[in-house]
Amino acid sequence: MAEVWRGIVREYLDHLPFDESDRIVSLGEGGTPLIYAEKISSEVGAEVLVKYEGMNPTGSFKDRGMTSAITQVVKDGDHTVVCASTGNTSASAAAYAAHAGLRCVVMIPQGKIAAGKMAQAIVHGADLVQVDGNFDECLDIVRELSESYPIALVNSVNPYRLQGQKTAAFEIVDQLGEAPDIHMLPVGNAGNISAYWMGFKEYAEAGRASRTPKIWGVQAAGAAPFVLGHPIKDPETVATAIRIGKPASWDLAVAARDESGGWIRAVTDEAILSAQARLAAEVGVFVEPASAAPIAGLLAAAAAGEVPRGATITCTVTGNGLKDTATALGDRTLDPTVIPVDVEAAASVLGL
Ligand SMILES: *Cc1c(COP(=O)(O)O)cnc(C)c1O
Repeated sequence: MAEVWRGIVREYLDHLPFDESDRIVSLGEGGTPLIYAEKISSEVGAEVLVKYEGMNPTGSFKDRGMTSAITQVVKDGDHTVVCASTGNTSASAAAYAAHAGLRCVVMIPQGKIAAGKMAQAIVHGADLVQVDGNFDECLDIVRELSESYPIALVNSVNPYRLQGQKTAAFEIVDQLGEAPDIHMLPVGNAGNISAYWMGFKEYAEAGRASRTPKIWGVQAAGAAPFVLGHPIKDPETVATAIRIGKPASWDLAVAARDESGGWIRAVTDEAILSAQARLAAEVGVFVEPASAAPIAGLLAAAAAGEVPRGATITCTVTGNGLKDTATALGDRTLDPTVIPVDVEAAASVLGL
């Protein structure tokens, strides 16, 4: 019989702060594919593979952090979880809370959440509150709520989130048989870049890889506090998942960048949307805008002659494109040509 993937906590139990006797709250997250991007590889002169995190149960990498965060919440005996979200954290928290039988409360910035993500939080039964402010302000509110009331905070400032998310780095090394030369990913609140760096370092220390990769982080130009070197007040970008001006994991992300010998740069919304379209049309991988940022960053680095020839470059594409079809379609409409029930008409309309 083929082996069945058991979710990241059971698969990587030796590397996580849990043991066999814990009640593990899992929806089977992780075990996502690493997919070769042929055209992009030949264009940039490197081996480029995308880690498709949109394959997770709720369609984003947030599930890796949520299985471990909610497992700890249950262990602690709490009954309510709270998060601020640009969409995917709330979708994930709502699903894992539903599975564990917990109440989930979510604060989202008004009008800035993709429809699919909001629908997920609603169908999983979360209590959704829109805040007339941005993500950073939502996070301030939920931090205070969790300090004053018996509610567990499951944003990435919760250390169990990063513990779960670091397993994506383990998987990449397991899939390649070695660490890549460079790992790229989008940077918003900066939990994930911090988690990957922790994961790559831990796996190298455990002898599972002989080295650690350079970490190249990519932000959206309108929400690029790391590139500017300071938090910003009114972040703006089409990539709503990284529309963040005051990243919570600032120091950890700077350490990931500097210790790895990498960088964090910004790309325009236009470049993000174009990379999103290329991933869909050339690789067959439909991602949301934020997830395409690393590909846009890679293409820009290649154009500047900065991609080492023949390097192995892995890119985390963080979330599923089905969450936000409106942005991906742009001005294309959903009304393909209609024909009668007739083979000749079908052949004729197809130019056969
Ligand atoms: C959360 C998220 C990000 C940003 O991750 P951070 O850990 O906040 O830097 C990027 N892309 C998607 C799809 C996300 O959901």
